[in-house]
Amino acid sequence: MFACALAGPCLAWSTVSLTGQVVAVDADLGLLHVQPDEVLTSDGQPRTDLEAVRATFFLGDPGLASVADGQGDLVPIEAVRTGWVVQAEITPPATGQPLGTVARLAVSAPPDAPRLPPLGFLYGDGLPQPECAALSLTFPILGGRDWSDNYLAAYSTGPHNGLDIPAPKLTPLLAPFDGLVVLRRTPSSVGGPYTVVFRAADGHTVLYTHLNDDEPGTTSGLGGEQYAFAPFLRQGARVTAGELVGWVGDSGRATGPHLHLETRLPDGSVVSPVEAVAAATVVSEPRVVPRAVGL
Ligand SMILES: [Zn+2]
Repeated sequence: MFACALAGPCLAWSTVSLTGQVVAVDADLGLLHVQPDEVLTSDGQPRTDLEAVRATFFLGDPGLASVADGQGDLVPIEAVRTGWVVQAEITPPATGQPLGTVARLAVSAPPDAPRLPPLGFLYGDGLPQPECAALSLTFPILGGRDWSDNYLAAYSTGPHNGLDIPAPKLTPLLAPFDGLVVLRRTPSSVGGPYTVVFRAADGHTVLYTHLNDDEPGTTSGLGGEQYAFAPFLRQGARVTAGELVGWVGDSGRATGPHLHLETRLPDGSVVSPVEAVAAATVVSEPRVVPRAVGL
């Protein structure tokens, strides 16, 4: 899922290894900007034309972007700092395409920088260990919606890893299955995407993004968490299939209100959500789950 664009004039590509430094991080868009110090072709020749331009690495989708530290662990994008050394190997794009692909990418994170917990870290919460099974979903939007398959559509930032389901702003979003909230992300700046990720007992995860960021009746972008997420929704919270978890919106880079939904296998690899969404159970009333009030 990594993609890389080198800014600047049209360049003839060849496989290169790049050493450079982080000069900027955009956590909301999942982008890492790197100033190369040295770019070498596979036969060791310097590519001074590429050393002169910044490389931009796309580290993943909103809320999940991370980068390897070279020791087998992942650092969340929010923890990446300018000045860290970057090493990458970039393979050529198809002729005429602007994006290369990244065969290898690592940063020199210091030992005290945060690392992502290993996969499976939340199963201690009384949930069984993962077993592979077909993904069974409750339709993510109350009452169901029409949608068309745009999974893997070729967009300018790379292949579209999810499915877009249009719906009016503030339409209720429902939990896709019984599981846990493994990530609830509020953008660090106005206009960024509100995102939530659920994990099922079998290890599948479902990501929702572009949740509402507006005050009702406005396009202010100032709605805050109260108009994006259901009040109980916290990282680590349990959810029940069909329960209200938030509201449709257009936060982040969205051309109109819709839900962007992604599904991943227990090993973290992206899988098509089309079959599961097509077979999902549509519900017309959110499931009411009694919850304690307070801490
Ligand atoms: Zn989308």
